[in-house]
Formats: sequence, C-alpha cells, structure tokens
Amino acid sequence: MTSRTEASRNPNVVQRDLAQARADFPILRTRVHGKPLAYLDNAATTQKPEAVIDAEADFYRNANANVHRGVHALSQRATDAYEGARHKVRSFINAGADAEIIFVRGTTDAINLVAQGFSLPRLVAGDEIIVSALEHHSNIVPWQMACRRAGAVLRVVPIDDAGEFDLDAYAALLNGRTRLVAVTHLSNALGTINPVRRIIDLAHAHGVPVLLDGAQAVSHLPVDVRALDCDFYAFSAHKLYGPTGIGVLYGKTAHLQAMTPCQGGGDMIRSVSFETTEYNELPYRLEAGTPHIAGVVGLGAALDYVTSIGIERIGAHERELLHSATRQVTGIPGLRIVGTAAEKAGILSFTLAGIHPHDIGTMLDDSGIAIRAGHHCAMPLMQRLGVDGTARASFALYNTHDDVDRLVAGIRRVCATLR
Ligand code: PLP
Repeated sequence: MTSRTEASRNPNVVQRDLAQARADFPILRTRVHGKPLAYLDNAATTQKPEAVIDAEADFYRNANANVHRGVHALSQRATDAYEGARHKVRSFINAGADAEIIFVRGTTDAINLVAQGFSLPRLVAGDEIIVSALEHHSNIVPWQMACRRAGAVLRVVPIDDAGEFDLDAYAALLNGRTRLVAVTHLSNALGTINPVRRIIDLAHAHGVPVLLDGAQAVSHLPVDVRALDCDFYAFSAHKLYGPTGIGVLYGKTAHLQAMTPCQGGGDMIRSVSFETTEYNELPYRLEAGTPHIAGVVGLGAALDYVTSIGIERIGAHERELLHSATRQVTGIPGLRIVGTAAEKAGILSFTLAGIHPHDIGTMLDDSGIAIRAGHHCAMPLMQRLGVDGTARASFALYNTHDDVDRLVAGIRRVCATLR
C-alpha cells in the first residue's frame, strides 16, 4: 500500500513488490573478494536500479539534444524529458510549483547556492546563522565562508549524548540577529531524525527562514516541503537511487526570486547586451549553462522507481533492519552504538573498543560487506561525541536480513581476530 499522500500525488503509480526489488539492482550480483556483496554504505551513495540506468542510456540513444533552445524535434523531446523530471520532483516533495525546483549538482551545490546567492548579499557584520552540531561539512563550510566574508557569526545548536538536537538551546539561540537556520533533516553519521517541524516553527516565529539539508532524509522518509513549511530543501539524486552529479534545490518562490544568480551564462538570461543583462524567469535564472540533462532524466526515473515501491514502505523496511542489527550487536563486548536518538532512520554507527574503524571496515570488506569507516564528513560531531570516527552501516530498500546477519557475524569475527 502506498500512503494516501503518495497515491494522491501520483495516481498512475504502479506498485512494485519490495521483496522483489533487490533483483532490479544489477550491481548487487557483483562478487567482492569472491563473496556475494552486502552493500551497507547507502548513506554515502545508493546503487542504481535498471530503470535508472536504462533511462539515462535511452535518453542518449533516443532523445539527446540540448534543452530549451532548439526548434527541432529532438530538442523538444529532450526539453520534455527534462521538464517532465522537474515536474516529478515537484510532485515527490509536494512543492507548490515546478519553478520552485532548481537543478543543481547535488546537496553541496544547493547549499552553496543559498549561502552565496541568498544569504551573503543580505548578511552584515554581527548577523548570525544557526547550524547544529549534527551537520555534514556541506552544511557547515558554506555558512562559515559566507559568515567570514560578511563578518557574521555562526551559531551551533548543541546535541545531547544520544545525538538529539537540543530544542531548548536552539530556542535560546534564535534572536533578532538570526538571518537563517540551516539544519539537517536526518543525520548521515548517526541516523538521528531531527524535529524539523518544530525547528521551522520556532524560526518562523522570529521571521527567520530555514534550509533543510535533505541529503539523507529523502531516501528514508516522505518529504512534504509544504507541510514542513521549510524555505529551502536540498538533496542529491545519487543517495536516492539516481545518478551522481545531479541534485535539487527547492525554494519558496519569493526566496528564489530574491536570490542573486551566482553563475551567469546561457539559459539564465532573457536578454543580454554589453551594458546590461535581464535575467530569465524561475527556475531558469538559477540554472546557467547546459544542464546535466541525462542526470535529470535519471533522477526522474529514480523517483518513479521509489514511488512505485512507496517511500513509507522503504522506510519501514529499513527500520526493521536497523532494529534487528541494533538488537543483535547490543551486548557485543566493547561495542558502542554511537547515536541512540529515539527517532532514527536506517543508519547504525558504532565503535569497537581498541579497534580502529578503518580496520573494522577493511576486515568486513574481506567478507564482501561494504560499510563506511571514518568521520563521515562530520568532524565537529565526532569531536562532540568523543570519537575520531565510527564504523557505519546504512540500509537501503534492497538490503535483507541476510545482509544484517552477515554484518553481525562479521563484527564478531573482527572482535575475535583483532582483540
Ligand atoms: N548532507 C548530508 C547529510 C550528507 O549525508 C551528504 C552526503 O553524504 C551531503 C550533505 C553532501 O551531499 P553531496 O556530496 O551529494 O553534495
């Protein structure tokens, strides 16, 4: 069953069976070091189903031309495919208009665009931007850069030892100098789901816009930008079963209209002379140059694919795997689960006393199990939690209980070998 929201947004969606979905991902048939692959590094990037691979190849085979420019049939076909995908994104996150969907390279690009094009022109010395201790470097460094240039101050919302956002401290940080709040919807390092609705309401009570880093959330949770009332939402296609090099910035129309384009060039203009340039309307004014058309088409196919299974079903399946993994590793001597928030998505971060996370990752790889080891691009978070890094297993729709069992057996082998 799809949710009512999804079904009403996509009345033509044909349901797919989650239990059969693993077969849709050709790379999962690869063997690693002679072993079947258990791919548990999905927070870094997800694998791609045939439907996405085929959609990109089909575009290059049958529709390749530049968009928005040609009068010929192929250019129209390419434009239809490109704009059709924009419409699918709008529907997937329930934005109010296609023009609120800006195609960018990914989450990092989207956040930098808001930092440079929206915030920086408005920031003056002494202004404040709020992030949280849970952020990925992509949601820290762009704000640091903007603050440095403007003489503004970066404020950080603390977390507790479980990895939960401190709402009281956040409320106390909001003030008349706050210009923007930028927080993650879901932590890539710990799996914490932030109370974003509350975060947004509190910011709006001060007239402060909120950017949500949705890089992780879009693949685990239903996202409705209008219900959330967020001002900006950023995500990458490659973490949502789509291609690399393409992502989305959603912004409320008024904010996008108020933004200064960071890049000038073709497509973003209405008219150009050497004296002046008149910018195009949204969304084109923020998409300079030839876009990643095939990537956008692939993203559209990924959204169709995810919708055909249902994001709520995917999230529920991943939570089941997370609970099973958590139950099985609890009690392994010296194992610490890092990130124990009450609201968590399918990400399990852990350390083993006396064993470096890289050694855990390398030994698991020998068994065909792919996890991530390190700081997960969240060095301040690691510091706050008193670790150099963690080992992280992150689940996707195609993972199975067998993957979890192999992970747990692998961790036990690491302990037996390296202790
Ligand atoms: N934010 C979060 C929470 C992430 O997990 C990631 C990627 O790991 C990013 C931002 C950056 O995404 P990208 O590298 O696709 O721009």
